[in-house]
This record gives sequence, C-alpha cells and structure tokens, in this order.
Amino acid sequence: MEKKTKKKYTETEIKQALTFVEIFEKKDEIDCKGCGYDTCRDFAAAMLEGKETPSKCVELSKKVIDKLKRKEKELRESLFLNQEILDAVPAPIIYEDKEGKAIGCNKAYEDIAGIKRFDIKDKKLPEYSDNKVYNELNDKLNASLLKNPGKQVVETVVKYPGGDDITIELHKAVFTDREGRTAGFVSILFDITERVKQNKELAVAKNTAELSVSLLKKMPSGFVIVDDSLIIIESNTAFARLMGEDVAIIEEINQGLKGADLRAVFPHHIIFSTIIESGEEFYSKDIEVNNKKIKISLFTIEKNKTAGAILLDLSIPDVKNEEVRKRAEEVIRENLDTVQKIAYLLGENASKTENVLSSVIRLLSDNEKK
Ligand code: SF4
Repeated sequence: MEKKTKKKYTETEIKQALTFVEIFEKKDEIDCKGCGYDTCRDFAAAMLEGKETPSKCVELSKKVIDKLKRKEKELRESLFLNQEILDAVPAPIIYEDKEGKAIGCNKAYEDIAGIKRFDIKDKKLPEYSDNKVYNELNDKLNASLLKNPGKQVVETVVKYPGGDDITIELHKAVFTDREGRTAGFVSILFDITERVKQNKELAVAKNTAELSVSLLKKMPSGFVIVDDSLIIIESNTAFARLMGEDVAIIEEINQGLKGADLRAVFPHHIIFSTIIESGEEFYSKDIEVNNKKIKISLFTIEKNKTAGAILLDLSIPDVKNEEVRKRAEEVIRENLDTVQKIAYLLGENASKTENVLSSVIRLLSDNEKK
C-alpha cells in the first residue's frame, strides 16, 4: 500500500529535502517507488514531516554503495602503486606501527631479512629476527622517536640470510596520520659496507702517504713533486738549497714551495713537461744547476698528471751518493704506489658516496611527503 503525506510544502522546501537524497534536478526524480512512495516528491514531503530519513531512499543507497566501491578500487590501486614504488627502491625499507609491529616492507627488505612481508605483518622485530644488537637498537630508536619525533641515523651491522655481515646506515623516522599524530616508524637501510672498507683503506693510504712525504722531506737529496701545470705540490729543503740561495729563503717562508711555479725556480723544468706528457715511468739524466752537477731521476706518479724527481748533488762522495740514491728511489716508488692508490680511492669513494646520498635525499624527501 502506498504511503501518503498530509501536509503541503512549498516548491523550495521540497527541492531542499530532495537534496538530502542527492536529487538536484528534475531528471533525477525517477519515482522508482523503492521507498514506498509514489514519487520522490512524496518521499521528500514525508522527510519534511519527520516520518522518513534519507537512508530509506533505495536509489541513494545504491549511489552510496557505488561510491564506496569506486573509493575501495582507487584505494587498492593506490596501495598497489605505493607497494610497486617501494619495491622499486633498491634500499631495504620497513614500516612499523607505534608498538613496533611490522605493517609492511619492500622487496629489498624481504631479501635482506630472508622473509616475506606477509610473514612479518603485525609481528615485532624479535619475532622474526635473531639479531639481538639490531633488535635492541631498533627498540631504543623507536622509544627515542616517540619522545622526539623526527629522524635518526645510526650505523650498525646486520647479517644477510647467507651469513655475511654487512655494515648499514639505518635511517629511521616517524610517519603521521591525517591528524598529524605519530602513527608509526619507517626505516631505510643503506648498505655502506664498501664505503666503510674504502674509508679504512683511504685512512691507511693517507697515513702512509704522509709518512712517505715526511721521510722524503728529511732526505739529504732534493725532491720535488709537480702537477701537469708545473706547479709544485711538494718539495724539501734540500731541493730549495740546490736551486740557490734565493729559493732557499723563499722555502723558509713557504715550506715545501707549495703552489710555486717550477719554471721560476728550476731552469731544466722542460724535462718535467716531457715526462708528464709522455707518461713515461722513469727518466734519469745529469744536469747542471748553479754550477753544481746534479743527477735527476724523474718518476711518473699519476700518468700525465703528476711527476716527482729526486735530485742528487754529485759533489757528495760517490759511495754516500749511491746509498742515498737507492734509498730515495725506494721511497719514491713506495710513494708512487700510495699516491696512485689514493687517487683511485678518492675517485671511487666520491662517486659511491654521491649515489648513496642522492638515494637518501630522494627517499627521505618521499617519506616526508607521505
Ligand atoms: S526510493 Fe528514492 S528515487 Fe525512488 S522514489 Fe523513493 S525517493 Fe525517489
């Protein structure tokens, strides 16, 4: 039996009531009778009388269900896309709730932890990791971040499922809900094993280089190292003395003559240009400087970039000269190895560090936007 309303309402009142069931135009009044009334207008009048509520409109319910389905689909697609993006990141990422229970992770984290994301969901780290040091560190960071939300960066060691130890830089930050309240933590792990190893090698190489230079400076024979523009990188007092009194005075002020132009102090500078341009390993000849006979032995330190030389004053007794020359050549050769190693390490390290830093900036910037 059709439901009826008693009161009459104005057109404006009916139109307003119809908006509650999302009927905004005449064409939307489909009069399907699903609500038990002959027309949508009768239903609107019943709502104005307080006899019905919008939820009784079958068409509105359908619209709401359609909207919810569309939203759910969008949400699923968005979550899928987010997971795809996370999986494309080569650094392991895990995100946990405020209690430290895992919400999800990316493919790289699955690989490093040797576990699937579905197996860690809602679990705390100690439930799937036996690395006590890392687990305790994670707990401490969580507690600290809850007190002071922001970011923390720490270095630690973790194990691959295969058993290899790797040094990681753990970047941890909080993420928030819509109201801006802390909702959990996101961790990004950067493998810095190679960087740490290279830094150690670099430190050893630097020490060796410094020791070698310090030994060279104390030699009775002259030594000098120049770059491809013939600018002096390093030299010793003996070299300055061989170059004459004026140069020796300058060397007292500018020890090692660093930055000085070799052309201004050494008349045979052309032999340095020759060895740098040719890239030849070793070259030796006798020359005369300030009326002194000198044996100069040149070495390539970095091909076409840096060369060094040992200068022996041949007025020193022969036996002593020979001993000094041999020792000096030995030291130069050691120094050559060290300097070449440093150049390689500096180049490699700089490029790797740049890559890692770029990733960190990108990832942390992404995290901040979420
Ligand atoms: S169910 Fe909704 S659309 Fe159908 S007649 Fe009632 S008010 Fe109009």
